[in-house]
Amino acid sequence: MNIHEYQAKRLLRDFGAPVSDGRVVLKADEAKSIAGELDGPIWVVKAQIHAGGRGKGHFAEPEAGSGGGVRLTKSVDEAAAEARKMLGRTLITHQTGPVGKQVNRVYIEDGSGIETELYLALLVDRKTSRVAFVCSTEGGMDIEAVAAKTPEKILSFSIDPATGFSGFHGRRIAFALGLKGAQVKQCVKLTQTLYDLFLARDMSMLEINPLIVTDAGDLKCLDAKMGFDDNALYRQADILALRDETEEDPKELEASKFDLNYIALDGEIGCMVNGAGLAMATMDIIKLYGAEPANFLDVGGGATKEKVTEAFKIITSDPNVKGILVNIFGGIMRCDVIAEGVVAAVKEVGLKVPLVVRLEGTKVAEGKKIINESGLDVIAADDLGDAAQKIVKAVKG
Ligand code: GDP
Ligand code: MN
Repeated sequence: MNIHEYQAKRLLRDFGAPVSDGRVVLKADEAKSIAGELDGPIWVVKAQIHAGGRGKGHFAEPEAGSGGGVRLTKSVDEAAAEARKMLGRTLITHQTGPVGKQVNRVYIEDGSGIETELYLALLVDRKTSRVAFVCSTEGGMDIEAVAAKTPEKILSFSIDPATGFSGFHGRRIAFALGLKGAQVKQCVKLTQTLYDLFLARDMSMLEINPLIVTDAGDLKCLDAKMGFDDNALYRQADILALRDETEEDPKELEASKFDLNYIALDGEIGCMVNGAGLAMATMDIIKLYGAEPANFLDVGGGATKEKVTEAFKIITSDPNVKGILVNIFGGIMRCDVIAEGVVAAVKEVGLKVPLVVRLEGTKVAEGKKIINESGLDVIAADDLGDAAQKIVKAVKG
């Protein structure tokens, strides 16, 4: 799960990391009084969407003005006017894709004078299974571009969990960032704070881009992006409360309510599978036979008929889906339960695309009987290869 910049900055402030004073605006008519609570003389108006590159982005509607999603203004009135222009409009950045994202919240922040823009991030390094720091003097821009063109300008190293974070890690980062004097001390404190926050809140990613040296010579987090481990949200109730459902794929959101492991993809074959490994194999074999999966979906081990029905409804609600492949190996999951769920879902929402069903394992005979006697137009398959070929053929002809 991701959160907005203004929410991330509140967490940073609460943990003692340096951020500017700022206020979130949800309604256009509140923009002026909220902007008036900040000192100035610069007010930065920032669109809050779960995507980066806002500064260099542009709006779809001419009413939003020609600027991007980050605008520097010189008065309360100007700040309020820019906030009103952005609210409700569609911001397009290189991370949103061409459709863009609707701006429902705007953050107004006390502007900072910038001496230098740096890059600092923490993430889970899967290779070392550790938390890693990534930093660069090339802040404020796309770190992927820095990595591609000038990889020598990026320093990254991981922290041994047995010994944890210590001052020398912070100093190493400070020197790599070219910091001097009191800034080194500030950097050691900040990196320690970020490391503690990262662990305490079960984050998967924390990116400060840019981390700046202000014109007064102090470090400050000017932007903040945070991602959290979904599997740990059960013990992070106040983080979960920050969830903005308007930022999420509606199909994934619906699936999460039914505890289904669903990821939307952009292919044409919807998949309903039990077990993550089998789901991966199913996606691979669909690709092998020349088509693309429309989703990853693992209905889990002990799915009920209702859960299967819901899963099927989510798949059929995707207009990109041109065919559906149900691939079940019944172990804990029973084939008859899957069959009942599929039949119930089709009765409810109808079936407009070809459906291939491959059942194997526990209660397979009962499952096949339910499908056969349902009167549904189902293409039966014997094994995974057969099933994949049949659905690709049905879709592509
Ligand atoms: P992003 O484009 O989505 O990554 O949004 P950022 O929050 O990183 O802002 C983009 C850029 O706007 C930064 O790299 C800065 O150059 C500039 N910017 C943001 N806030 C301020 C500020 O308080 N003062 C000044 N002078 N520039 C700012
Ligand atoms: Mn940024």
